Amino acid sequence: MSDASLRIGIVGACGRMGQEVVRTFSNAPGFELVLAVDRSNVGIHLREIGGEKAPDLLIRDKLGAALDDTPLDVLVDFTHPSAAAGHALSALRRKVSPIIGTTGLSNENIRELTLACQEEETAGMYVPNFAIGAVLMMKFCEIAAQWLPDAEIVEMHHDQKEDAPSGTAIRTAEVIGEARSSRVSPKPRTILKVEGARGGLVSDTPIHSVRLKGLLAHQLVIFGGQGEVLSIRHDSMDRQSFMQGVKLCASHVRSMSGFVVGMDKVLFA
Ligand code: NAD
Repeated sequence: MSDASLRIGIVGACGRMGQEVVRTFSNAPGFELVLAVDRSNVGIHLREIGGEKAPDLLIRDKLGAALDDTPLDVLVDFTHPSAAAGHALSALRRKVSPIIGTTGLSNENIRELTLACQEEETAGMYVPNFAIGAVLMMKFCEIAAQWLPDAEIVEMHHDQKEDAPSGTAIRTAEVIGEARSSRVSPKPRTILKVEGARGGLVSDTPIHSVRLKGLLAHQLVIFGGQGEVLSIRHDSMDRQSFMQGVKLCASHVRSMSGFVVGMDKVLFA
């Protein structure tokens, strides 16, 4: 390891995303994976879940104790919305920058973490989507909404995803709402034959959530204008699609300030 390497920890190391993070940072110049935490597989060697190149570490369970005896720069979290904010607070209290990839954080969580970043003078990030193409999709939606205010979002994810709609879909609807220069068209009254058929409304944009085996993470945003339709679609085909973004955020978070939501500040600085 060179002196300049960033010391990375991962909580949720044994999950689908965590395993990909372990593989990524086991093999990435400029980073050293020094801590792996999960509530499952405690005590087993990281190589059993992260492959041959994984560092010589055992999976640990108590995050606070692990942070106390392992100096870290960045803690990446892919766990569960009920735990992620607590993990990030534990990191911040020790001047470690959290990068939360777990989706479904509440506004209250974000307020609490914003305050903790100020108190500790340590930056942190919450990134609901690490795919570069997904961030670009939202940027393109921002441009489209200035001219085409009427949009609907169809987000599609694997059947194990717990939260709905996805954090990306909610954020896209908010971006569209903030970017509109005119109001959405008045809608005729709909006779709903099935509850939820028109999706859930965020910032005047209906979001429809699909959960199916075979899918990973996909989103289609449809803008309707007079006699024209614009479709903007992004597909994550495998979990590697998120790793370039995770590495970019890990490289940049220590030079940012406060609690940053999304990757825009990293990609469009
Ligand atoms: P998963 O269920 O496969 O993995 C979660 C892991 O976290 C498990 O190994 C579990 O044992 C561990 N865990 C849960 N609670 C814990 C706790 N309190 N302490 C320690 N370990 C704990 O889930 P996944 O598919 O890897 O997804 C994890 C999260 O990442 C989800 O919220 C998902 O929506 C999100 N996600 C985000 C992105 C992104 O780009 N930001 C991409 C994909 C998934």
